Amino acid sequence: MKYKVNDSCIGCGMCTSVCPAVFHMGDSGLAQAIDGEVKAEDAAAAEEAMGGCPVGAIEQA
Ligand code: SF4
Repeated sequence: MKYKVNDSCIGCGMCTSVCPAVFHMGDSGLAQAIDGEVKAEDAAAAEEAMGGCPVGAIEQA
C-alpha cells in the first residue's frame, strides 16, 4: 500500500503523530507521505491516520 497527501491538507499534524513512519511535515507546513510501499508493520497506523484526517487529505496511491 502507498499513500499520498492531497492539496486539502491543513497542516494539523495529526497523521504525523499517529504514523510518523509514513507521514512527516514538509517545508511548506503541510504533511507528506513517504514514497513507496508502506511496511507491513506500519500499515495499521497509516490506515488509522488516513481515517482520522479531518479533511480527508490522505489518499491511497
Ligand atoms: S491529518 Fe490530514 S490535514 Fe492533518 S496534517 Fe495529516 S494530511 Fe494534513
